[in-house]
Amino acid sequence: MSYKSIRGMEDILPQDAGVWQELERRSRAELESYGYREIRTPMLEETAVFIRSIGETTDIVTKEMYTFSDRKERSLTLRPEGTAPIVRSYIEHSLDKVSPELRLYYIGPMFRAERPQKGRSRQFHQVGVEVIGSRSPQVDAEAIMRLDGLLRAFGLEGFVIKLNSLGCRKDKDAFAEKLKAYLKGEKSRLCDDCKTRLDKNVLRVLDCKNETCVQLVRNAPNVIDSLCAECAAHFSRVRQILEALKIEVDIAKNLVRGLDYYTGTVFEVTHPALGGQDAIAAGGRYDNLIKDMGGPDTGAIGFALGIERVILALGEKKGSFTRPAVIYIATLGEEAKVEGLKLAEELRSKLNDLHEVNVVTLIDLKESSLKSQMRSADKNGAKAVVIMGEDEMRQGKLAIKDMAEGGEQVLIDRTAVVEEIKKRIC
Ligand SMILES: [Zn+2]
Ligand SMILES: [Zn+2]
Repeated sequence: MSYKSIRGMEDILPQDAGVWQELERRSRAELESYGYREIRTPMLEETAVFIRSIGETTDIVTKEMYTFSDRKERSLTLRPEGTAPIVRSYIEHSLDKVSPELRLYYIGPMFRAERPQKGRSRQFHQVGVEVIGSRSPQVDAEAIMRLDGLLRAFGLEGFVIKLNSLGCRKDKDAFAEKLKAYLKGEKSRLCDDCKTRLDKNVLRVLDCKNETCVQLVRNAPNVIDSLCAECAAHFSRVRQILEALKIEVDIAKNLVRGLDYYTGTVFEVTHPALGGQDAIAAGGRYDNLIKDMGGPDTGAIGFALGIERVILALGEKKGSFTRPAVIYIATLGEEAKVEGLKLAEELRSKLNDLHEVNVVTLIDLKESSLKSQMRSADKNGAKAVVIMGEDEMRQGKLAIKDMAEGGEQVLIDRTAVVEEIKKRIC
């Protein structure tokens, strides 16, 4: 009898956790420095929170939510995304009173029952941002700039930001009618899913991956051509500002995103490492959602990036920030062990002042031979080993062995050890 994790829900193992911690650390540092503050909402919400916001006919709500009844027969759902719970919280706690323009971020797991594959887990993780309280196009540009900045802070290159506007609700409805009229004429060629979408939620046809549907959509009317004067002006202002900020975007006239609450500016980021099929990040405006959920009539925009997908996109690069510098202390004899513990303490306190250097100090406290301690140092990926033997210690000395190929061993003064270690890890 052996147990396994639930399909599509993966363990993040100790050898992989470093890259997650580093992505989370960089996200917090980047966002906090621009005045964003963290919000943590529960993983479970009343099911209605998601149906009302994401939309009754969307794929997420109809096929992908983990919904169940609790012991009192209340319908609960594991959050499939981060925006709806935050809007619920914003309204419940009157956060508009905290600040008229609220900049929030969140980091955590989301749950969708999709077919598990590379970059698509049933428990997946997002870093997300919401700016609530403004309809200004500057805020759209700032959100896109933040997303661009975050991805760059991870060291990611070669990603493409795709941008579109859905217009206000009126524009969106008018466009849906236009699209429906066009697609009705081609109904027989649509896939079975899209035949249903045609009546229920025609914009979803634009996301269909079926070859024939993709072909049909290519010649369909564009949402951008259906924008009212106000929405067209808003969108062109967003583009102007992005240009001034030197943030490159591709206009993607059929980009709609799979959630009903989006209006106005929408965007997604793709990366060649994921074949351009799956976005590594996406977002948009949701100017009606807060009012629809019972809150004040205020505009908002947000985005989320998928941590698993960012890690895939980083590829080999992630190695550059996954491993801390390990310093191993090898000791010979009882007295040396005590001195070794003191040295570990000293190294930790002095080296932790160094920014951008993550140092781990390991010490062997068993009665192992020097040879086996060196093996253990090597196994732990040590950059250097400090060797403390009793004879040397009596003379106020110790040895440092550089663990790089062909690295040498030198005898130094005990007092110089911190400086010598610094030289090897910086
Ligand atoms: Zn409009
Ligand atoms: Zn289709």
